[in-house]
Amino acid sequence: MATPPVIAVDGPAAAGKGTLARRLAAYLGLSYLDTGLLYRATGRRVLDAGADPRDPAAAEAAARGLDHADLQRGDLRGPDADKAASAVAAQPAVRDALLDWQRDFGRRNGAVLDGRDIGTVVFPDARVKLFVTASAEERARRRWLELAARGMEADRAQVLAELRARDEQDAARAVAPMKPADDAVLIDTTELDAEAAFARALAVVTEKLGQSF
Ligand code: C5P
Repeated sequence: MATPPVIAVDGPAAAGKGTLARRLAAYLGLSYLDTGLLYRATGRRVLDAGADPRDPAAAEAAARGLDHADLQRGDLRGPDADKAASAVAAQPAVRDALLDWQRDFGRRNGAVLDGRDIGTVVFPDARVKLFVTASAEERARRRWLELAARGMEADRAQVLAELRARDEQDAARAVAPMKPADDAVLIDTTELDAEAAFARALAVVTEKLGQSF
């Protein structure tokens, strides 16, 4: 039997990549890893320690001390967690500390991983690479609705501004910047609902892997 595939799903925040990746994994019988959670949990640990997420030593120590319980925390979403995650994620030592963990996860039995650098750095040989994006305005609208659904009141303009700032930080950093791999297939979900995005992704997966999956 062929080795189970790794499928990389990268893209900016609130483009729909998590929903898509989770659904692809369930459909294909593969494990799923939301790699953003690793950076979110690292950022939280730095905040817990009373340190600044931009402090390289504090951020590296937090990444190296990460365990499974940290990934189950209930406070990994929201504006503070977003900012802390993006700040720790810009640091080479943090990315290095989390790299083997992600690779081991994917190599074990194949997996769908979503993030920013899965197709470019973590699994440059992934058999399927998707880059899921949408306009900043549409992504901010989705994020705002998500916050409202969780009872978190937010100002729409501020959500858009924070999202843009995070995109910029994620795309401009020197190490593993967010960008589509040369061989990634772009899926723009601005005008697509979750169903249509899934259908498009599945067509790409079938083309790349054949019907056996
Ligand atoms: O995907 P999510 O929005 O949860 O990611 C939170 C932050 O973690 C991102 O803004 C980015 O800075 C960082 N991240 C990353 N590389 C990944 C996944 C997330 O740098 N593979």
